[in-house]
Amino acid sequence: MSLRTFAEVCYRISSISSTNEKVKILADYLKALDDRSLKIASTFLSGRIFPRGSALDLNLGYNNLWTIIVAISNRSKDELRDAYIRYGDLGRVAEIAVNDLKIKPLINVELDLNHVYNSFKKIAKAKGHGSMEEKRKILEGLIINCSPLEARYLIKIILNELRIGLTEGLLEKSIAEAFNERVDDVRRGVLLSGDIGNVALSAKYSRLDNIRMRVLEPVSFMLADTIDAIDINDEMIVEYKYDGIRAQLHKSDKVKIFSRRLEDITSSFPELVDEALSYNHQFILDGEIIAYSNKPLPFNELQRRLRKKNVSNSIPIKYIVYDILYLDGSMLIDKSLVDRKKILESLGLHFTYAPYIITNSKDEILRKFEESKRLGHEGLMLKEPNSLYQVGKRGKHWLKFKHRLDTLDVVIVAAEYGHGKRATLLSDYTFAVKDDGLKVIGKAYSGLRDDEIKEMTKRLKELMIRDEGYRIIVKPEIVLEVAFDEITVSNRYDSNFALRFPRIKRIRYDKSIDDIDSLDKVKALYNSKR
Ligand code: ATP
Repeated sequence: MSLRTFAEVCYRISSISSTNEKVKILADYLKALDDRSLKIASTFLSGRIFPRGSALDLNLGYNNLWTIIVAISNRSKDELRDAYIRYGDLGRVAEIAVNDLKIKPLINVELDLNHVYNSFKKIAKAKGHGSMEEKRKILEGLIINCSPLEARYLIKIILNELRIGLTEGLLEKSIAEAFNERVDDVRRGVLLSGDIGNVALSAKYSRLDNIRMRVLEPVSFMLADTIDAIDINDEMIVEYKYDGIRAQLHKSDKVKIFSRRLEDITSSFPELVDEALSYNHQFILDGEIIAYSNKPLPFNELQRRLRKKNVSNSIPIKYIVYDILYLDGSMLIDKSLVDRKKILESLGLHFTYAPYIITNSKDEILRKFEESKRLGHEGLMLKEPNSLYQVGKRGKHWLKFKHRLDTLDVVIVAAEYGHGKRATLLSDYTFAVKDDGLKVIGKAYSGLRDDEIKEMTKRLKELMIRDEGYRIIVKPEIVLEVAFDEITVSNRYDSNFALRFPRIKRIRYDKSIDDIDSLDKVKALYNSKR
C-alpha cells in the first residue's frame, strides 16, 4: 500500500476533530491494507518506526533532517527557516521544500510503505565511519520521490510526531473496530507484546487470545501510586524503594535488559548478562539496578554509566530483583504477588532479592521508612500481597512512599545561556507540566554538575526549534525531576503556579514526555499543603 494513501489518511484525520470520525476513517483504512502494510502502518501511526524494544534507531536528529531538506530544495534557507518558525513543524517545511526540487529523481517511483520501512531499516543499520553520509543518501532518495504531502508525513514519521490528534488509545480503538474485536483485548495485546503492528495483524485473524508475553520482548511495567501518609488497614508487602533504574531482565538463550521506557539497555550492564546466562531457566524478572559500593551510590553515577560507551571500568552495580513475570514458558502475571515471590525465591538466583516484610502496623512501616532513608534508599514501596502483576497500569495495588518533600517530573521547553564561565552553556531551564498542552511552571538552574550542563547544552541544541539569541526554544523531550520548597500561585507562568526554590534533582533519561506530571497534580499538591 502506498505512502500516498497513508499521508492522505493522516491528513484527513488531522483535519477533523470528532474522535468517532477519526476512528472510522482509520478503521476503514486499516481494513483495506495487506498484512505487511497493516503491520507497518499501525506501527507508524503509533508514533514509532520500529516495534517497542527494538534495538534499531534511525539516529537522525532535527539538525540532520534540516540539512537534508535544505540540500534538496531550490527554496532558500531563509524561506525554509521562516516556514519553520511559522509552523514549528519540520514536516511542513519538507512539504514546501519538495515543491521545488534541486535534486530530481532519475525515475519517479511511487513509494510504498514496505519500501519506506526497508529504507528506514537500512538507515538504522548504517553504522561507523561514513554512516551519516549513507543515512543522508537513503533519506534523500526517499524525499525526492515524495509528493509534498508524502514528504510532510515522511518527516513526521521520522520525528515520531504525526500530530494528527491520534492517541494510542484511538489507534487501538480503530484496530478493534476494523476487525470486530474488543478494544480491551487489543489493549492487552499491546501491553503484553508491545508490538502494535503484530497486534493489528492478530486482530485481523482473530488471534488476539494467542498473544503472550515473549522472552526478549519488553513488557509494560506495573507502576505505583504515590501516597503522602501511611493510611492502610490490610497487610502489605513492604520493601525499600531503591533509587536506581527500573530494569526488566529477560533470559532465554541470550539476555536482554529493558529500561522503564522499554529501551534496550543490555550493553550497559554486561555483568548482569553473564550472571543471568549461568542459569538454565528462561525468565523475565522485574527489579531495580542501583549503583552500589558498600552502600547505595547516587543515582547520577548510574546515569553516567548508561551513557558511557565503554562500561568496563564503571561504577559497580547491583540488580535488586523484586518480581518475576515469566518462567520457563508460563506467564506468571495472573498469580498473586506472594506466589510470584515464592517462585522467584525458589530459583535461588544470585542477584539480590529485595528483602520485604508483611505487616499492617503503621509504626513498623514508619520504622522501615527511616531505616530505608538511613541506608541511602528513597523510601518504601507497599504492595498488596494478593495483587496480580498489572501490566502497564498505575494503580492502588502498589504504593510508593518516598519524600516528605515532593518532586515533580517536568519537561524542558526553553533554555537560556548562563553567565560568566557558563556564558556559552545552556544552564537555565524553563520547564512545564502537562495539561491541555504544556504549561510552564518554573525555571531552574541549580543542581547539575558542569559535565552534565555541557552535555545538556549539546542535547538542547539538537532539539532547538527557535533561536531567540539569549535563549532557545526546544522540542519538549528532556525530562527533569525537580525538587522545590513550595508551590505558589503566580501569574508569571501560564500554569498560574510557580515553584519556590526549584532545583534539579536529576535528569530523567528513563522518562519521556508522556511520563511528566500534570497540572492537576500540581493543584492537588498545592491544595494538600495549604
Ligand atoms: P519514580 O519517579 O518515583 O521513580 P516512576 O514513575 O518511575 O516513579 P512508579 O511506578 O510511579 O514509577 O514508582 C515506582 C518506581 O520505583 C518504579 O518504577 C521503580 O523504578 C522504583 N522502585 C524502587 N524500588 C522498588 C520496589 N521495591 N518495587 C517497585 N518499584 C521500585
